Amino acid sequence: MLYPAPVERLIAELSKLPGIGPKSAQRLALHLVKAPEAEVESLSAALLDIKKTLRLCGRCFNLSEGELCRICADPRRDPSIVCVVEEARDVISIERTGEFKGLYHVLGGAISPIDGIGPEQLRIPELLRRLREEGVRELIVATNPTVEGEATMLYIAEEARALGVRTTRPASGLPVGGDLEYADEVTLGRALRGRCEV
Ligand SMILES: [Zn+2]
Repeated sequence: MLYPAPVERLIAELSKLPGIGPKSAQRLALHLVKAPEAEVESLSAALLDIKKTLRLCGRCFNLSEGELCRICADPRRDPSIVCVVEEARDVISIERTGEFKGLYHVLGGAISPIDGIGPEQLRIPELLRRLREEGVRELIVATNPTVEGEATMLYIAEEARALGVRTTRPASGLPVGGDLEYADEVTLGRALRGRCEV
C-alpha cells in the first residue's frame, strides 16, 4: 500500500463510483485529505441523507421525498398521458424540455434476457396495473434507443395494445445507441412533440 490504510480505503470506495477510475479516485481522496473538516462532514452528511430521506414514488417509482413524487403530487399534471422511461435520470431529461405535462413511470432498467432481466424484474406489472386502473389514454414509451430499450418498448406496446391504450414513441432524431440522458433538450423536445404510433 502506498498510502496510509484510511486513504487506501477511501480510494477503493471512490473507485466503485461510475466514471471514476483509479487516478481520479486518488485525486479526489487526496483532495478530501487536505479539505477542511467541515467540508468533508457536509459531504458525508449529504451522502447519508440520500439514503435516509429518499425513496421511490409509490405511483411512478421516480425518486421522491414523500409517498408521492413532486410530479405525481402536482394536480396540474395530466394523468391520462404516461411517459415510460428506464431510469429516474430520464425523467429529469424530459422535464428539462418543458414539453411534457403528463405523468411518468420509471421501469428501473430495460429487458435484457442475457442479464436475466425480464418484465417481472422491472416495474412492468405495476405499469400494466396503472393502465388498467388510472384511465390512461396515451402511453409514450421513451426507453433508450438501444437493443434492450427497443425490446422493452415493443413488449410494452403489445401489452398496452391488448389493454386498448394508444402507444406512441418519441420521433426519431435521438442519437441511436445512446442514452436519453445525452440527448439535448431541443432534440428531445422535438422528438416528444413529433411522437408517432408504435
Ligand atoms: Zn411519482
